[in-house]
Amino acid sequence: MSDLSILYVHTHFLCQPLSKNTSAMKQKFHECLKDRWKTRWKNSPHHDKFSHIDDQFPMSNFNKAKNNLTRKQASLIVQIGTGHAPVNKFLHRIKKQENAKCDSCLENLGIEVTESIRHFLFECKTYERERHTFARSIGRRSKDFKFIMSKPKNIEKLAKFMVETERFEQDANR
Ligand SMILES: [Zn+2]
Repeated sequence: MSDLSILYVHTHFLCQPLSKNTSAMKQKFHECLKDRWKTRWKNSPHHDKFSHIDDQFPMSNFNKAKNNLTRKQASLIVQIGTGHAPVNKFLHRIKKQENAKCDSCLENLGIEVTESIRHFLFECKTYERERHTFARSIGRRSKDFKFIMSKPKNIEKLAKFMVETERFEQDANR
C-alpha cells in the first residue's frame, strides 16, 4: 500500500469526502485528524482540568450550605462545582452556543476573551460591582476557588454572587 492509498483509506473512512487534488486531500486529512483529536480530548475526563478549577467537588461542604440556598442557587453551585456552569465556553463545547467568547466583554469592551468559569467568576469586568461585594465578604482569598468551596458560608456567598450577576437568568429555561 502506498502512502497515498493509506491516506485515501483513512480519509475515506474517518474524514471528509475525497478531493481529487492530492495536496488538498492531504490538508483535509490533517485537518480531519486535528478535529478528531480535539473531539477525543473534549470527551476525555482530563479535558476540564483547567476550566474545572477544582477537580474534587466538595460535596460535604455543599450539603452543609444547601439548607441555606434557594433551589436556583443550589443548582448553580452544583454546576460551577462540577465545571458545568452554563458559561459560553461550556455551552460551546456542548454545541449550544456558536462560540465560547464572553458576550459582554465583546459588546462593552470590544475584546474577545473566552468566557470560562474563571473569567466569569474572577475576571469579567461586567460583574465588577457584584464581585467587589462578594470579595469583601470573603476576604483575602476571594479569588481562590478551592478556598471558597471549602467553607459552607463561602459557598452561600458565592451562590449569592452568581445570582446577583444575573448572568444565568436566560439559562433558567434551557
Ligand atoms: Zn467578560
